Amino acid sequence: MNFISTRGQVGSSGFIDTFLMGLGNDGGLMIPETIPEISGQTLEEWKDLSYPELMFAIFSLYTNGEIPDEDLKQLIRESYAGFRSPEVAPVIRLDESLYLLELFHGPTFAFKDVALQFMGNLYAYAAQKKNQVIHILGATSGDTGAAAISGVRSKDGIRICILHPHGKVSRVQELQMTTVQDDNVLNLSVRGNFDDCQQIIKELFADIGFKAKYHLRAVNSINFVRILAQTVYYFYAYFRLPERQREQGVSFSVPTGNFGNIFSGYLAKRMGLPIRKLILATNENNILERFVREGVYQPDQFRMTYSPSMDIQIASNFERYLYFLCGSDPLETARRMERFRAEGRLVFSEGEREQIGRDFAAYSVNGERCLRTIQACKDRYDYLIDPHSACGIAAYEACGGEDVCISMATAHPSKFDEAIGLTGIRQTFPDEIRQLFDKPQRQTVVENGKQAVAEQLERFFRIG
Ligand SMILES: *Cc1c(COP(=O)(O)O)cnc(C)c1O
Repeated sequence: MNFISTRGQVGSSGFIDTFLMGLGNDGGLMIPETIPEISGQTLEEWKDLSYPELMFAIFSLYTNGEIPDEDLKQLIRESYAGFRSPEVAPVIRLDESLYLLELFHGPTFAFKDVALQFMGNLYAYAAQKKNQVIHILGATSGDTGAAAISGVRSKDGIRICILHPHGKVSRVQELQMTTVQDDNVLNLSVRGNFDDCQQIIKELFADIGFKAKYHLRAVNSINFVRILAQTVYYFYAYFRLPERQREQGVSFSVPTGNFGNIFSGYLAKRMGLPIRKLILATNENNILERFVREGVYQPDQFRMTYSPSMDIQIASNFERYLYFLCGSDPLETARRMERFRAEGRLVFSEGEREQIGRDFAAYSVNGERCLRTIQACKDRYDYLIDPHSACGIAAYEACGGEDVCISMATAHPSKFDEAIGLTGIRQTFPDEIRQLFDKPQRQTVVENGKQAVAEQLERFFRIG
């Protein structure tokens, strides 16, 4: 198993090097050269595995034996031991055809923990094996930052700096990031939106000299390991359904921002998991919905919504799908990305649009519908969902609501009480969240631009 870049200018790389590289050195995204295919018989053998066992089976197909089995098993075990559900990602039945996959049982109450608890441990492992310092740099619309910090706080040999958009994350998200007192953590609050933060990160990673000098590593879903860690719960959830429904084929509805989570589903499908449709749920920032429905990929006005973790216009993982849509042709992918940079949009052919339609359905959920769905779930199922998860359920309903569907609950409602409060529903916070409000915060507000951030980083990475 080797990994290559979507733009074709990075030599074949192994698993750990791919993990450490993050963004491809040619500006592309790393992907497996060939995707392992899982036979029906293997699926049958996997169906009763525990979450850690299943993760081990899937990762073993990608790690080239670079991590000895016992080490990999231990890394996985440690990563999920702290989850509040022993199942890690339990599936809840809402009605005869609709299921909810609860992905928020990790330390920061959002699905990002599933990949980032593991990646934190893997960074510590790689730092030790390679005898290297690791400096993690990431941008967050709120949840990735908290999860990444939680994954590496107080770990030897690792420093982490997270950029978030100033005043544009929820109160609980901000507290989860900024109340961590460990000295290996720096929070930069950027006067801009998430796309600005992500752009700064991309520029810093594209500056190969800077990246090498400071040993910069990525936690965003530009990192392939994060994508792979998220494929595990597609398999796991599928196996939780009754055989009769599995035979019909199962759809997944996925609240989408950066196209990371849903790309993990696409990978699972390419590996052979019988997924009928991947339903792409967006909020009013609907570039991806327009891509699926109209065959045009073009950013629009940035909007603030009730689901801030999906307030994204430029979806960094889009390029991974584009690569497969271009028939796994890196030169064509590079050409299209160049055209996108020059013209600000991409238009897809009739044939490509048919292919996109076979892979995805899409629906954009406006704020009013989001709140109505939260209320309806409470009334109908006595279950409180967060605004992101509500987009998933609303999109499933809008797409017909007929298939057997697993809709992803990507965050716990307590993270987004601002929006939930608007429905009139009052919730009680879990203890872990309530305690955050009494803790002191640490963060630095910076201007929107690569230079201002680079100066902060040079200071932070030089200390100690
Ligand atoms: C990050 C996030 C999303 C979007 O996931 P992507 O991988 O960026 O598409 C959805 N919901 C929540 C709660 C998130 O934190």
